[in-house]
Amino acid sequence: MVSYIGVSDVQRLVGRIGAGAFIERLALEIETNYRRWDEFDKCARVASHSPVGVIELMPTSDARLYSFKYVNGHPKNTADGLLTVTAFGVLADVATGYPLLLSELTVTTALRTAATSALAARWLARPDSRVMALIGNGAQSEFQAIAFHRMLGIRELRIFDVDGAASAKLAANLAAMPELADLRVVRTASAQEACLGADIVTTVTADKRNAVILTPPMVRPGMHLNAVGGDCPGKTELHADVLSMPDARVFVEFAPQSRIEGEIQQMPADFPVTEFADLVRHRSPGRTTARDITIFDSVGFALEDYSALHFLYALLDEEAGEHRKIDLVPRLADPKDLYGGTLAAGARRPALRRAG
Ligand code: NAD
Repeated sequence: MVSYIGVSDVQRLVGRIGAGAFIERLALEIETNYRRWDEFDKCARVASHSPVGVIELMPTSDARLYSFKYVNGHPKNTADGLLTVTAFGVLADVATGYPLLLSELTVTTALRTAATSALAARWLARPDSRVMALIGNGAQSEFQAIAFHRMLGIRELRIFDVDGAASAKLAANLAAMPELADLRVVRTASAQEACLGADIVTTVTADKRNAVILTPPMVRPGMHLNAVGGDCPGKTELHADVLSMPDARVFVEFAPQSRIEGEIQQMPADFPVTEFADLVRHRSPGRTTARDITIFDSVGFALEDYSALHFLYALLDEEAGEHRKIDLVPRLADPKDLYGGTLAAGARRPALRRAG
């Protein structure tokens, strides 16, 4: 039997330890796995584009475990009452090829994206960062706020969205979290105003075009930019000139994928970037002065989903009692008798007769 984690299971597992602690523990697992970078099979994700969105597969493996995620990105979905991003994924045993876990990854993607963002900022932002602009107040935004409050010590959040209702929703959700009681939330009238006085700027908007959320005049010396929403060809958030500002350095997850999908798709193929794995393995420096502008050009990489699936699987183990399992793979007395152990066995069962 294959373990199964649905949305209600994630609610229970996260609820047991709290969203902030869950994100912080997941960030540690992600960091540990980025340190093992050379042990992973890596490829850019396989994308199927349509005029309104994208559906992607994200596989990776090490010698022990294999994982993949199915994920979509459809920015216009919310107008029809649907999520922009949904996902699910599988963790499998490399030794047998058998799936171990089938899990929802929609909520989990928001958790792992926030964990990765805050982890990168812990390596790159100025340690005295306390004020963050959060531009784009949709599905991912609360998770980003929780992660940066917990892991970076952000105490003022300056929020903006072109949709005022999204900002109102974010402010109300944050106000209802007792653990964020010391977080001051300031609603602003524009992205420019949100950036005023910010140490960190997170952009997490959804729009299927080369949007210009940040321009060079909005970026101050010493800022850390966490660019999350640009993650597809033709879908970016930063003006290209931001990337080439003096003192700016760009950090990516997996360069071959980021050059296709990230903010750096706007730059020449040899534009210099540093992979996050080189940062955590101390092979490349991060921020070198308080005036550096550090840019985390996030697109989301399969290793983060591998980490999330493994983390969820381990949390199931910590729980006393049985968790849900599904018969995704046949269990056979004779592994060569697939027919006999499944269809023939079904045919031998007494046929159900319709009443009347
Ligand atoms: P969402 O549709 O729920 O929210 C996006 C918000 O952006 C909406 O409220 C929208 O009104 C706002 N917005 C659009 N254009 C804007 C603009 N010009 N200025 C300010 N706000 C604007 O989407 P979501 O699930 O929160 O995802 C946000 C983005 O993050 C998507 O583009 C998604 O693809 C991306 N994403 C990236 C990663 C990653 O790992 N990098 C992971 C998950 C999602």
